[in-house]
Amino acid sequence: MSTTPLISQMLAIDGGSPVRQTLLPYGRQSIDEDDIQAVVEVLRSAWLTTGPKVGEFEEAFAKRVDARYAVSFSSGTAALHGAAFAAGLKAGDEAITSPLTFAATANCVLYQGAAPVFADVCRDTLNVDTEQVRARITARTRAILPVDYAGHPADLDAILEIAQGHGLVVIEDACHALGAEYRGRRVGSIADMTVFSFHPVKHITTGEGGMVATNNAGYAETLRRFRNHGISSDARQRQSAAQWHYEMVLLGFNYRLTDIGCALGLSQLQKLEANLARRREIAVRYTTAFSKMPGIMLPTVRDEVNPAWHLYPIRLNLEKLSADRAQVFRALRAENIGVNVHYIPVHLHSYYRERFGYKGAEFPVCEDAYQRLISLPMFHSMTDRDVADVVAAVSKVCLAFGR
Ligand SMILES: *Cc1c(COP(=O)(O)O)cnc(C)c1O
Repeated sequence: MSTTPLISQMLAIDGGSPVRQTLLPYGRQSIDEDDIQAVVEVLRSAWLTTGPKVGEFEEAFAKRVDARYAVSFSSGTAALHGAAFAAGLKAGDEAITSPLTFAATANCVLYQGAAPVFADVCRDTLNVDTEQVRARITARTRAILPVDYAGHPADLDAILEIAQGHGLVVIEDACHALGAEYRGRRVGSIADMTVFSFHPVKHITTGEGGMVATNNAGYAETLRRFRNHGISSDARQRQSAAQWHYEMVLLGFNYRLTDIGCALGLSQLQKLEANLARRREIAVRYTTAFSKMPGIMLPTVRDEVNPAWHLYPIRLNLEKLSADRAQVFRALRAENIGVNVHYIPVHLHSYYRERFGYKGAEFPVCEDAYQRLISLPMFHSMTDRDVADVVAAVSKVCLAFGR
């Protein structure tokens, strides 16, 4: 035994007392009184949906991400579907994406009747590996969907260069990356279309909601139609023009975000800077606290990016621990730290296994990472005490399982 001054404390999972008494979630929304007031105002107004708040939110959002247009949707998934439609994905086409993501990234390709093709991720960022993308391009490839895992932008310049060389559309899944920067540019201004989510665990929330940002006027128009049944004008335009005529020009959906949601989004957007600053502060605290802990590997940040820290995913150094990820996970949960795992690789879900014949071992970097990943709590309203509890619990568990 070394002469470490640290004494191993009894883990809560073994009957010891937990680091904290109440469960700290891995992510949650922050709703202030002004958010509530913004929603109440809409509830008292004439427009609950298709009203003025929609355009206001879209305009403010586009400005924040430095895009010419932003089109709101009823969820991030609906926004991904809209982007896949606007990109022209159809039966017989392929789209390349990361397997280390939420299933919706790949599902939106399937919605269009096209086939998602996975490419393995980089060891450091866990974002899709550009060389693996290049190797998977065929005559059928039509789009690339990089995911900004945990809020760290993907290798966008390299991906755009490949796309330009092959005439492909880049749809960036930035559901983790609102407020992130890549080579000094804002995520939302870089890819052909960039998709965001406003689910309550994300940076800002509208309850459910999503957005596509683009600089392309044609995509913006198609996206607006797609989210409104494929109709070429909206209800308010018709009302103000005293018109009853409308034209359905393509097969769309009702994927509209309500004025209630948009008012909440507008109010939330005003607090994005504070939210990002707090997340970056928490990331620094974690990184400082864990940098010398032998049992864990910290998320890497490449020089050219400023991540948005939706997640703070650590990877267990299993070679230095006497426990596997499941045991560490359960031990941290017993300490009342609401850790999570992002993600079960998409190709390993039974739907993908059965439909496409995946058996595991297809994407070794992704699958190895999956065995080790644990997301620590990361959200705007975490107190310093919450952060200290996470640090204490991770230290306690790593010490107990160290070897
Ligand atoms: C949250 C998320 C989505 C889906 O967003 P919803 O708003 O929940 O539909 C898609 N992709 C990624 C990577 C996400 O994290």
